[in-house]
Amino acid sequence: MLSTIALDTQVIRPGLCTGCGACQGMCPYWDSVDGRTICYFDCERKDGRCQRFCPRMPTDLAALREQFFPQETVLPEIGPLRGLYLTRAADPAIRANAQHGGTMTALVELALREGFIDAAVLTRSRGGLEPEGVLAATAEEVRACSGSSFQIPPTLAVLNRALRENRYHSIGVVGTPCKTLAVYKMRGNPLPENGNHAENIGMVFGLFCGWGLDWDGLKDLTAKYAAPEKVSHMDIPPSKYHALELREGGGTVSVNLDEVTPLVRSGCRYCTDMTAEFADLSVGGARSADGWDVDRGWNQVIVRSEKGRQLLQIARKKGVLEFKDTPEGGLEKLKGASAGKKRTGERNLQSLQGR
Ligand SMILES: Cc1cc2nc3c(=O)[nH]c(=O)nc-3n(C[C@H](O)[C@H](O)[C@H](O)COP(=O)(O)OP(=O)(O)OC[C@H]3O[C@@H](n4cnc5c(N)ncnc54)[C@H](O)[C@@H]3O)c2cc1C
Repeated sequence: MLSTIALDTQVIRPGLCTGCGACQGMCPYWDSVDGRTICYFDCERKDGRCQRFCPRMPTDLAALREQFFPQETVLPEIGPLRGLYLTRAADPAIRANAQHGGTMTALVELALREGFIDAAVLTRSRGGLEPEGVLAATAEEVRACSGSSFQIPPTLAVLNRALRENRYHSIGVVGTPCKTLAVYKMRGNPLPENGNHAENIGMVFGLFCGWGLDWDGLKDLTAKYAAPEKVSHMDIPPSKYHALELREGGGTVSVNLDEVTPLVRSGCRYCTDMTAEFADLSVGGARSADGWDVDRGWNQVIVRSEKGRQLLQIARKKGVLEFKDTPEGGLEKLKGASAGKKRTGERNLQSLQGR
């Protein structure tokens, strides 16, 4: 049975929900409060988009992938790959506020300028806390969304509202893997009779993702070590540091990861996608022999589609991004990390299902 009840029993109650917001913004029944998805009414609609677009409802990933990506580009560990690059924004003003090298901000801004998209669904937060979905249509609005929030806001509710309004006709979306999968489910099964205008999704920009954190838990943890209103950035350096970094004023406070991992969202423990495999371009932190102090200012970029390739080519030609050589073995390392997340997610899912 497909209805909001199915979404509740198959996703919310077993703890699979990621809080992405794909079920929201289309009807008055689904909402989000402090990162928790809630349903006000048990709707019996069988063709509801909420459960069709939910990234945690059963999905034939191979069939969906086949709709959008040539089979010969697909690697089992990281999905479609047309190229792997190390880049950063050439503009130091972008880099100053970015999570890593500012590649994502620079690419979204360029996509707007070059007409690849006419608006972008982004996430804006205050130093990583209290994130909210935002529809950005100017470079200033895009720049105001730089930086990562490890709380997961229901950003896709903003996309759903924008699609319904049908005001923008090539909307870009930046999201973690759960969000970008939901967006491809919208594209692959658009249900145009419901007026959701999925044809207006212009480009998808994926973020690498290890996990998101419990909304209240991260707020409380931050307050324990810093003045939350003064924290400008949060980051998770490579695993050998075993830390969450809070950047406050000129300094950095390091929180032991043992205090952080219990706060991982339940729904993230079942995720099998580290690199946002459903996207035109996916961007994450860099890993090289240069070490974290250098790497934190750079990004890895996976080009997955022809549109993604074209945008990156323009970024190179116009000097919007700086490139450096990808380290030897970089692709293998990425494949290894990604395969590790797949194994863990599958194992957790099997034990949830009692297999
Ligand atoms: C929850 C989470 C977990 C992550 N885990 C990893 C990881 O394990 N390994 C790794 O290499 N990288 C991870 N990343 C990606 C990394 O933090 C950077 O976002 C990425 O390297 C791009 O850096 P940048 O400087 O180009 O980003 P910026 O130029 O600063 O742009 C960041 C973009 O991210 C968007 N954004 C911020 N928070 C969210 C959110 N919660 N949901 C959706 N979009 C958001 C903003 O809209 C903005 O457009 C994670 C990101 C998130 C949000």
